[in-house]
Amino acid sequence: MKNKQIVAYHRVNRPGRFRLKDCHSDDTFGGSDRAEIEGQLEKNVEALSRLQEKLYAQSEWSVLLIFQAMDAAGKDSTIKHVLTGINPQGCQVFSFKVPSVEELAHDYLWRCGRCLPERGKIGIFNRSYYEDVLVVRVHPEYLDRQRIPEGLVTPQIWKQRFEDVNAFEKHLTRNGTLILKFFLHVSYEEQRERFLKRLSQDSKNWKFSLGDVSERALWNKYMVAYEDMIRHTSTPHAPWYVIPADHKWYMRFAVSRVIVEAMDGLGLTFPKMPPPQRRGLDEVRRLLEAE
Ligand code: AMP
Ligand code: MG
Repeated sequence: MKNKQIVAYHRVNRPGRFRLKDCHSDDTFGGSDRAEIEGQLEKNVEALSRLQEKLYAQSEWSVLLIFQAMDAAGKDSTIKHVLTGINPQGCQVFSFKVPSVEELAHDYLWRCGRCLPERGKIGIFNRSYYEDVLVVRVHPEYLDRQRIPEGLVTPQIWKQRFEDVNAFEKHLTRNGTLILKFFLHVSYEEQRERFLKRLSQDSKNWKFSLGDVSERALWNKYMVAYEDMIRHTSTPHAPWYVIPADHKWYMRFAVSRVIVEAMDGLGLTFPKMPPPQRRGLDEVRRLLEAE
């Protein structure tokens, strides 16, 4: 498989023309050999582990991975599989759920802003501020809980949020954060299958909540919100990748490929010792060797 093409293929390059219906959730970029693709995932996981070591040692760049998807698309399992090789010390995962009272007392970016990765670290957002143009858009009554002064809530609010998110992400990238955003695109039918599994297998029951079915009933509204969000917040500095999610093996591989390629592009290196410090280290080594 042509790795380079895969990344460009899933990246939203022409946001103005983006249509969700052009993306097939069962796409595998022509790959059908599951075992081979799983082997490639393993290689990517190893590459990621090496890249992370440099990221951590250099401690200049941060990497922010944002995952958005409908329920049961596989956010949790993708995070688990793709980041298995990563040193836990260099990685932080945050899941954003229904906002707490404290969170609602602030603007919607606040809770995510405090979880941004430090330099040298990989931060993972399992859901993010994008929920505020997705679930909140599908349920406009959630806006009331945000207690935004009345005159400020107009029909322009979603467009304004897109602008603010783009500016926020630009600010982060200008300060050394690599941002990669993944929409895991699962089909309505595949979600049904996965819900049924969650309901029938005891070990999966905990993953299901009754609210998941009411959200499923709003599927079309969600798809409109996702499409609009991707159209307005796919930028060269913080692109969206629409990853087909019906085949989990392909989804995990594609996500891993995007991350490896983007981190590779940072040109990470282990920090070089300046000559005076290098001489100091050589001196200590000589002393230890002479003991
Ligand atoms: P899960 O990720 O399945 O544990 O579910 C978390 C739930 O929190 C999802 O149903 C999200 O839609 C919901 N959620 C996340 N962020 C927000 C938000 N800003 N406002 C309302 N609901 C949210
Ligand atoms: Mg859920």
